[in-house]
Amino acid sequence: MGEGKRLSFWWDHWCGEGCLANKFSRLYLLSAGKENTCHQMGNASNGSWKWNLKWRRNLYEWEAAEAMELQKMIEDEKISEGVPDRWKWTHDKRGQYSTKTAYSLLTLEQGEVNEAKTFKRIWNPSFPSKISAFNWQLLLNRIPTKANLLRRGVIKDATEAKCALCNEEEEDSTHLFLNCKIARWVWMACSKWWGTNITVNRDCWNTFQLIGKGTKGSNIRECMDCMWKTVVWSMWKTVVWSMWIARNQKIFHNKEDKEINLGKLFELIQMRSFLWIKAKKERYAFNLTDWLINTAQCLKSTVGSRRLH
Ligand SMILES: [Zn+2]
Repeated sequence: MGEGKRLSFWWDHWCGEGCLANKFSRLYLLSAGKENTCHQMGNASNGSWKWNLKWRRNLYEWEAAEAMELQKMIEDEKISEGVPDRWKWTHDKRGQYSTKTAYSLLTLEQGEVNEAKTFKRIWNPSFPSKISAFNWQLLLNRIPTKANLLRRGVIKDATEAKCALCNEEEEDSTHLFLNCKIARWVWMACSKWWGTNITVNRDCWNTFQLIGKGTKGSNIRECMDCMWKTVVWSMWKTVVWSMWIARNQKIFHNKEDKEINLGKLFELIQMRSFLWIKAKKERYAFNLTDWLINTAQCLKSTVGSRRLH
């Protein structure tokens, strides 16, 4: 970072790994300067830089603790007046800039800032409210994963924060629901089932946004454009909820430390999604077997005939 005039305080990766909006998602929502550059988030007095973060309301105690953590993290990063910022392209494995990675980032950025829309997508009244609540907490990274418990001091030792499903890496929400080998298996099974490629993105928030955009060539999407988003978001909610339940059962009820039963987990996902999508509109006339074998046709039958041609 140089003078910080070209760096977005919340969205650019200028301080440690990743962006601050993801690391401190709650604070980002409360920030009075969501679009600010680094340079706009403080001022220089007597030749030294001072961060000055402003919030939309007074912070509660636990939020203030997070703000302190953020302050601590950025305190060593100083603005150098008159020195231009320099970019390093970290979104590509080889560190090379490409239009493709830039484009996907830009399209994501638009989704990221729109919390109100996301909130509406999560709080679908026909869905069980505990699942909507869980999903909203998940997107804000406030569910009690082991990494979050460690951060809050509930777990003291990092070795106890290993993923409950694979026991290989730290259990944060990105790992648990997207990158864990179990999660990858589940998303791959869903991809096959829906006949589409599900793109897992850098965290749950972004994957949730991206999944709604869908992938061309999906047999579900082609026959039911108007329903696609509702269905795919319902599916997402079902998948992450089912994984969370499986994870909790493994922690709290699995004394023999058995491997998780993937087939059973996937069956539960299929079953739950069937029940919830069906509960949404009673007139859906398909049965469970149809749903499992011929999902696209089921969804097609739920859309008015004008959509079929
Ligand atoms: Zn894992």
